Amino acid sequence: MQPTDRFALIAVTSQGGVVHLVSDAVIATCDAGRYVAACGATFIPAAMTEPDGTDDCPLCRARQPQLPQARGQRR
Ligand SMILES: [Zn+2]
Repeated sequence: MQPTDRFALIAVTSQGGVVHLVSDAVIATCDAGRYVAACGATFIPAAMTEPDGTDDCPLCRARQPQLPQARGQRR
């Protein structure tokens, strides 16, 4: 399933600490614990006990510039 503008995009931290945007439809149909981000990257989300990521994926960010930035990039 390809993410579209019909779905809400949610910021999800990957295991590498990068924050990607994932549509709620992709999260609802998650396959084998991997998400496909709005940028096309397939990644495994960080454990919920891990701190939020500090680096936004620039390709995902370009799709939704109005979303709050990751903590490490706020000024
Ligand atoms: Zn991304």
